[in-house]
Amino acid sequence: SHDFGKTMLVCRMQHEQPHHHTAWEWFGIGQTLALLPLSEHLSSVVLTLPPHEMQALLELPDADFERDIARRYQGRLGEMKRAGSRHTYPLIGVYAQRFVAPRFALIGDAAVGMHPVTAHGFNFGLHGVDLLSREILAAARAGADIAAPERLQRYEAAHRRATRPLYLATQAIATLYTDDRTPARLVRRLVLDASSRIGPLRLAIATALSEDGLSLRGLLPSALPGLR
Ligand SMILES: Cc1cc2nc3c(=O)[nH]c(=O)nc-3n(C[C@H](O)[C@H](O)[C@H](O)COP(=O)(O)OP(=O)(O)OC[C@H]3O[C@@H](n4cnc5c(N)ncnc54)[C@H](O)[C@@H]3O)c2cc1C
Repeated sequence: SHDFGKTMLVCRMQHEQPHHHTAWEWFGIGQTLALLPLSEHLSSVVLTLPPHEMQALLELPDADFERDIARRYQGRLGEMKRAGSRHTYPLIGVYAQRFVAPRFALIGDAAVGMHPVTAHGFNFGLHGVDLLSREILAAARAGADIAAPERLQRYEAAHRRATRPLYLATQAIATLYTDDRTPARLVRRLVLDASSRIGPLRLAIATALSEDGLSLRGLLPSALPGLR
């Protein structure tokens, strides 16, 4: 596992201004903010802070909490009101040493629990379910043992191949984009400048992180065609 040493807050909030159905991720100095749009004036606020700062925020009464969050978004969403509970958890990435044991398999975040920055944890979960269910179905159709060790090992090997590179890349991106020291800030400035100026680089990054990239790497399950 990898402890990013930060605490993440997830809280549903209503806001005065519409979000125009745009999800944001905003790497500030000392904080990371994300906004996951729900209905027009309702979003999930995701805020990452050092644990002691998060504790202070959690202790604020509602009105102060709401003002503090609106200020962090620099007033872009107008006034904000809490519409759900303030839920926090330690930001830890997990990549299980083994995905399988006798008659046992890990799927979802229990196998690969990623930093949410590249937004693929759920997709990996679906991929694991797809791989494992194919093995189980094939065994059931053949009247064989659905938990035979070689079947579980095939699932583990295929799921590792599909998830390990993006897990490591996500960890590197998260580390770079949450490091406030000058060298890290310079490197990310360079990466952002290069990707906004060089069209093919921007396209390569977008493809790697989008549905197209996932499909190319076989990461969108064929059992769930609606997601293609
Ligand atoms: C802010 C944020 C944004 C994200 N954005 C994206 C995204 O855009 N795209 C994407 O693909 N992924 C995204 N993810 C990742 C995605 O949410 C997770 O990968 C996914 O929810 C994992 O599903 P899961 O079923 O494995 O685990 P969970 O969703 O964590 O479900 C586990 C369940 O088990 C319950 N549980 C735990 N212990 C016990 C117990 N002992 N007994 C009974 N029940 C128990 C828990 O309460 C929970 O309901 C995001 C995650 C976060 C935090």
